[in-house]
Amino acid sequence: MPSNSLLHFITKIIKFEGFRATNYHFITENELLIQLENKSSRATCPHCHKITDKVHQSHPYRVRDIPLSIWDVFLLVDHRQFKCKKCHKVFSEELSFVKKRRTYTKRLAEKVVKEVLETDVKNTGERNRMTSAEIETILKELEQDLLTEKPKDLTGL
Ligand SMILES: [Zn+2]
Repeated sequence: MPSNSLLHFITKIIKFEGFRATNYHFITENELLIQLENKSSRATCPHCHKITDKVHQSHPYRVRDIPLSIWDVFLLVDHRQFKCKKCHKVFSEELSFVKKRRTYTKRLAEKVVKEVLETDVKNTGERNRMTSAEIETILKELEQDLLTEKPKDLTGL
């Protein structure tokens, strides 16, 4: 296990409120995997708004983050499902840095969109060492979000 001070340092660099780095390793010489842990052991039920700490099950969830220096960064977090003690419904915890079922962080999506607007898909892919198809996926999913979340705002685009 890496030292506490090193993990503290990585936690500071990653900078996700409420999460801490618990481990890391190099997948390849330019790919870094950082394991994150939610500091909170509780979640609020989206159905009845009662706070619960009863974990139903969890599974490892891997998302891509913005590159750090020469490294492509991947985050691994134990994504928990809670079971509400009051209404007994099972729900997945919200992860502040990633949208539901996406394979990349919100800030990576923001970076990609900004760079596509400034340059193009090909350049953005090269800058982030991602394929054009990966960039296109992010753009397509963002478009879907805009259509489902804020249909009224689209007229201004
Ligand atoms: Zn509930």
